[in-house]
Amino acid sequence: MQVETLPEEVVKRKSVELLQKFLGANVTLPEPTGMLRSTWFSNPYIRGSYSYDSVSSMKYPNSRADLGKPLLDSAGTPKVLFAGEATDLTQFSTVHGASESGYREAMRILSS
Ligand SMILES: Cc1cc2nc3c(=O)[nH]c(=O)nc-3n(C[C@H](O)[C@H](O)[C@H](O)COP(=O)(O)OP(=O)(O)OC[C@H]3O[C@@H](n4cnc5c(N)ncnc54)[C@H](O)[C@@H]3O)c2cc1C
Repeated sequence: MQVETLPEEVVKRKSVELLQKFLGANVTLPEPTGMLRSTWFSNPYIRGSYSYDSVSSMKYPNSRADLGKPLLDSAGTPKVLFAGEATDLTQFSTVHGASESGYREAMRILSS
């Protein structure tokens, strides 16, 4: 997220420096003609790329489980269900966590 606040020129220069470091002095890198970078964090429709535990997450040990709890009707039947990587207790941040959470909610529907 900090990188998104840096000017394009700085990111470009640092990227070239890094590439040069790994490729060694025997390789001459041409100057980039342009740069395209993602801005997942500043995009108001995304606000990040995937969920992660922060230092304060320890204060809320059930937060992922709470996020995945369905909304029930008065008879206790699940009506609105939530899947997605952020609701997976162990494989959050990943595609496999996302798909596992989909199976979890599908099983919830089947068993109700
Ligand atoms: C750059 C990048 C690299 C990654 N690399 C890896 C990797 O190598 N390995 C790995 O396992 N995982 C990786 N991930 C993570 C993985 O892509 C995600 O964990 C996974 O896609 C999450 O799936 P999801 O279904 O939970 O959420 P998403 O795939 O984010 O799906 C959520 C959907 O909901 C839609 N949506 C949001 N708000 C609304 C709304 N109000 N109304 C209707 N629709 C809405 C969104 O448009 C989106 O289509 C990476 C992610 C990023 C961004």
